[in-house]
Amino acid sequence: MAVLTPARKVVVLGSTGSIGVSTLDLFEQSGVAVEILALTAGRNVEKLAEQALRWRPKVAVIDDESRLDELRQRLAGSGVQAAAGAAAVVEAATMGADWVMSAIVGAAGLAPTLAAARTGAVIALANKESLVCAGPALLRTARASGGKVIPVDSEHSAIFQVLQDDCLEQVSRLILTASGGPFRTWDKTAMAQATPEQAVAHPNWSMGAKISVDSATMMNKGLEMIEASYLFDTPQERIDVVIHPQSVIHSLVEYADGSTLAQLGPPDMRSPISCAFSWPQRLSWPAKRLDLAAYGQLTFEAPDHDRFPTIEIAREALRLGGGAPAAMNAANEVAVAAFLDRRIGFLDIARAVTGTLERMNGLGNLAENDGDALESAMMTDASARRIAAEVVGHKRYSH
Ligand code: NAD
Ligand code: MG
Repeated sequence: MAVLTPARKVVVLGSTGSIGVSTLDLFEQSGVAVEILALTAGRNVEKLAEQALRWRPKVAVIDDESRLDELRQRLAGSGVQAAAGAAAVVEAATMGADWVMSAIVGAAGLAPTLAAARTGAVIALANKESLVCAGPALLRTARASGGKVIPVDSEHSAIFQVLQDDCLEQVSRLILTASGGPFRTWDKTAMAQATPEQAVAHPNWSMGAKISVDSATMMNKGLEMIEASYLFDTPQERIDVVIHPQSVIHSLVEYADGSTLAQLGPPDMRSPISCAFSWPQRLSWPAKRLDLAAYGQLTFEAPDHDRFPTIEIAREALRLGGGAPAAMNAANEVAVAAFLDRRIGFLDIARAVTGTLERMNGLGNLAENDGDALESAMMTDASARRIAAEVVGHKRYSH
């Protein structure tokens, strides 16, 4: 079943991260025929070189130029070309792949993802921040080039799988599930003292540090609400969030007649990755099967917006429109990095994001900039980062 021939030409952006590694592992486990044109990483030369020696792409690209020599040494004699820098990452994205896994973390993924979208490739989109920064432009670009964006985020993959063609106007609600993260049951006093180690220890998923902290603050769900709004052309008033600690139901679609469809599976990102790889076919690989009797029960709760204000912050950013989602995302990236560096406390992350958005709104910095979408998103991103760094540095939070 599902032998996809001929070999698909593939690029994996962010191959050394959690999603990148799962992608290569899925190729391995399924034995699917792929020709890897490029693998790219931020700074992890050792892992990139190890992957390149195993998968033999045409080129391996490291974003951090100071590590190019080391990459060259590690790849010497292998026939794999070594390259470095942000422009080389963008170039890798445009090598003519049929399928591009976009799995860089943060707004750094926007330029290469947008470049890949211009080539008409299928983009398997894990990098939710690029949609948050420039969703409408990214989707427009992919459509105009004859390409496609298939979500990899498990919630959006669930909705994508459950939504029937041309039925959007019959959908009354999208319901995103959220695990609730490691602090689901903690009170605010304990959350104020939470350490980076505690925040990255996610109960169900093993992920990169940034998205793990986002899951702990629930900003991940805020970003996903914006992602869903753009991907499925649905206003935020019709996107709800429900806490589901077992992460078995990955999201739901409610139709106008009150019927609700869900997608289920064990929490394993290789499942949405395989869906994005082979859609509309199904890839056969030794996936763990869902044993509902072993779970016994699935539980649900309403989110607590007092302890987790980030979903409401994201709704407000989407309501504000213009550059607000990009600014929110940038401020969150700065605040999460400061928390991981132990410069601010856990509850300060959401405060810093609100403080940044308030200051930018006051300065009139949130309006849509004229010009090209990438440039406009990057300008907003840069000014939000500057202001967020000040807010974090001086601990000038909003309340
Ligand atoms: P990660 O931190 O494990 O990996 C990130 C990858 O991006 C690495 O290969 C890293 O080297 C590379 N990178 C980092 N900064 C870069 C830069 N400036 N330029 C070029 N490359 C850079 O992150 P992850 O958990 O794999 O997440 C990747 C993306 O997928 C994120 O946007 C995340 O929100 C999304 N996502 C992840 C999961 C998950 O289960 N891990 C689930 C859903 C969505
Ligand atoms: Mg998700």
